[in-house]
Amino acid sequence: MPDIDMNTVLVANRGEIALRIIRACRRLNLRVVCAFSQADRGAPYLQLADQAICIGPAPAVKSYLNIPALIAAAQATGAGLIHPGYGFLSERPEFAEAVEAAGLTLIGPNARVMAQMGDKVQAKRAMIATGVPCVPGPDSVLPDDPEAIRQIARDIGYPVILKAAGGGGGRGMRVVHDDSQLADAFMLTRQEATRFFGNPDIYIEKFLQKPRHVEIQVLADAHGNALWLGDRDCSMQRRHQKMIEEAPAPGIDRALIAQIGERCAASCREIGYVGAGTFEFLYEDGQFFFIEMNTRIQVEHPVTEMVTGLDIVAMQIDVARGNALTVTQDQIVTRGHSIECRINAEDPDSFAPSPGLITAMHIPGGPGIRVDTHVSAGCDIPASYDSMIGKIIAHGADRAEALARIRSALAETSVSGVSTNIPLHLQMLANPGFAEGGVSIHHLEHWLDSRKAQDA
Ligand code: ADP
Repeated sequence: MPDIDMNTVLVANRGEIALRIIRACRRLNLRVVCAFSQADRGAPYLQLADQAICIGPAPAVKSYLNIPALIAAAQATGAGLIHPGYGFLSERPEFAEAVEAAGLTLIGPNARVMAQMGDKVQAKRAMIATGVPCVPGPDSVLPDDPEAIRQIARDIGYPVILKAAGGGGGRGMRVVHDDSQLADAFMLTRQEATRFFGNPDIYIEKFLQKPRHVEIQVLADAHGNALWLGDRDCSMQRRHQKMIEEAPAPGIDRALIAQIGERCAASCREIGYVGAGTFEFLYEDGQFFFIEMNTRIQVEHPVTEMVTGLDIVAMQIDVARGNALTVTQDQIVTRGHSIECRINAEDPDSFAPSPGLITAMHIPGGPGIRVDTHVSAGCDIPASYDSMIGKIIAHGADRAEALARIRSALAETSVSGVSTNIPLHLQMLANPGFAEGGVSIHHLEHWLDSRKAQDA
């Protein structure tokens, strides 16, 4: 076995984020090894790594979610650092623990902080303690007694939302409008929480009716420095999945954002957070309410990179290697506006995945356009994984220019052999509500419903 060295990074992920991490390692002059499953063995991005190592068959549980296989891959290739990307094992404290136990370094927070932020009740408690504003509701799990639950719900005021403490991916949540629905909703949410997340704990908070999703990107080192790198608006969602993201969030008082951003950075220092992370908020009537923290790099990080000019993935790797941040908060300046569209291989009407062979592909370019994709003509999109095949990102001097650029970039893009959601993106970008800016998290689904009603 080779000696483990801190100049080699194992990429424990696939697709566009694997390529993004490879690029960051190149930029930092680090050796990079990319893990792959049998389904990805022909992926062109593997050629860009110094080494590629097979970690198992196509099903994710046997490869990208296989902790022993990934640890063994790092040891066999001498990789002292492991980048988990997003999804897969990126927010699993047991993975962070296994990496630490093997004497390796995960590019992310330690297992303790990851576990704390992964439990939404503990996270909320930590936020309240560090002065980050949260959705009204107790910072503890609900008791079993129906009468006690009813009293808590009444104190908050209907509508309320029941949420699984261990929940994620938009599951394990239920809105309750009055007393009569409460007991059944509690039982159902508890069953789901136990079945999906193995944690029966439920908590309750006010259900906000027309919020926007606004988040703060943070980055912290192991020397007590923490920065906030600006905000993003990710309100264009379908079934809690983000489709379009932008930076900065349009129409929100910058002084208020700075105040929240400073709080998030201070909170990182107080909880001992190291790495890149995102504080997610709901924003309604001029107020921010924390909902959760993601302890990893996010799909939408490029819009922040476009407006700040920073390489967040490289900085994330740098702080994991023990280096101190080299930029200070007053050096972070945001310029212009950026919009990202997530391109999925799926039917633009039914949203059914469309795996298969890409027979031809044209990607856009020109001023202010960035394309993060791992696919090209001749690539096979496996059915085993998420359908996202890339992201098209535009930057402009202002939102109007970013919008104009992303529209023409998408119109220029063509992908043959599989269906994509590009036609849907073009319609969304033409939507007057979105064009105006500041839509709520329900805007996209309402618009899809009205489109369906018109077609019927
Ligand atoms: P997950 O980890 O499953 O993504 P979140 O806590 O981030 O769960 O919530 C996901 C989504 O659910 C939010 O983006 C929002 O659309 C909705 N949601 C969560 N909490 C509330 C709330 N208190 N009021 C209104 N909507 C909420």
